[in-house]
Amino acid sequence: MERGIFISDIASRFERYSKELYSQKGVLVLLARIRGERWDFVAGMQEKKKDLLVSSRREFSDGLGVLIYSGSSLPEKEEEKIFRDVEHFLFPGFPRGGIAENPTEEEVLRFLKTSDEDLINQLFEKADEVRKKYVGDEVHIRGLIEASNICDKDCFYCGLRKGNKDLERYKMTCEEIFSSARFAHDSGYGTVVIQSGESLMYTVDELCRLIERIKRSFGLAVSLSLGEMRKDQYAALRSAGADRYLMRFETSDKTLFSRLKPGSRLEDRLERISWLSELGYQVGSGIMIGIPGQTPESVARDIMLFGELDLDMVGSGPFIPGDNTPLAGTSGGDLISSLKLIALTRLVTLNAHIPATTALGSIDISGREKGLKCGANVIMPNCTPGKYRKNYVLYPGKICIDEDATDCASCIKAMVLYCGRKASNGPGHSLKNSKEG
Ligand code: SAH
Ligand code: SF4
Repeated sequence: MERGIFISDIASRFERYSKELYSQKGVLVLLARIRGERWDFVAGMQEKKKDLLVSSRREFSDGLGVLIYSGSSLPEKEEEKIFRDVEHFLFPGFPRGGIAENPTEEEVLRFLKTSDEDLINQLFEKADEVRKKYVGDEVHIRGLIEASNICDKDCFYCGLRKGNKDLERYKMTCEEIFSSARFAHDSGYGTVVIQSGESLMYTVDELCRLIERIKRSFGLAVSLSLGEMRKDQYAALRSAGADRYLMRFETSDKTLFSRLKPGSRLEDRLERISWLSELGYQVGSGIMIGIPGQTPESVARDIMLFGELDLDMVGSGPFIPGDNTPLAGTSGGDLISSLKLIALTRLVTLNAHIPATTALGSIDISGREKGLKCGANVIMPNCTPGKYRKNYVLYPGKICIDEDATDCASCIKAMVLYCGRKASNGPGHSLKNSKEG
């Protein structure tokens, strides 16, 4: 990618750029040509410089440099953003100086759209580096218990939707869930995730007793993923000891959300996410990539929203179309888009916990290993008793449905080692401020 540049071509455009920035933010940017130690101004409103006190400079390649002047010192993040915006203005395309943490929405969109392999590899490498820097080499293991496939909702994308009459429905007893939690504990996992379709199959009271018992007996971190509930119900579960709640917002596009989840509204889902956070849960959300109606622009917005919501965990994976759903026959998410999503989520959220999901492992035999190398730091082995697994079909082709929990335990540990990482046996709580469990 060459970015040769003729100063005369850009000087007048830069002048306009500089004026606009100055009138909007009172910040002056000047363009200079660098010769040895000398910086000669070539564009920008030099006459304004005398009124401004603070300056910083950055040398770009091609002998060009940019100086920023402002009345008082700018927060580091803002200064960095200005340098990056200027760099984009000067060199449309990708920064040759490397891929940065905290990308802008525009940058995220460019990465989502690019098919340039070099660039995609650079993105993956950067995400791996950022993962190491912010969350380290440990891989947190969350044992997943698929408690019930009974669901009152009719989400277009999901095999558990109530309209799917070709599914044998089940509900694990609380005793069975407790035994699965014991298995997770005995396998050295630090967390259990209790997930189910959205229905009133368990009373809140039953769930509270179960959570208390699991916490008391095993000291595991408990995550719930039971869908939309009332605030008082979330509060009761939290008081019983639930540490975390996972609820994907699926897409930030309001219209698409309601189309995919009939009778539900994005606002309500997001409101619940903020209740959960208020109640002191560590909150996880995410999306599916490759679902019909999604655009690169909407995915870029989704990724920025992960950062804006300050999520503790972000679990996203490819959409896999199921035969018994209205989206049968559509194409679904591919490996590269799924890995880009993980990598960009890492760059935007920095220290969120990000799983390499089962759906990713289902579209590619080593999808989860690849995810761990592109920014992910969590893996969620299945702890559901073998006899129920084949009926928890959110999507077809799901891996590990013929295995039992013990098989998953050894497989996952081998996978982590193969990736040159180490399996954590702690709870792997949130690394965001004041969100210790
Ligand atoms: N009922 C709860 C939790 C179970 S569904 C809820 O909906 O929140 C968990 C997640 O599975 C959903 O959030 C969705 O993103 C994912 N999922 C559902 N159908 C899928 C499919 N066909 N392909 C990939 N992921 C799917
Ligand atoms: Fe039910 Fe969740 Fe599937 Fe929707 S995604 S049908 S709420 S299990």
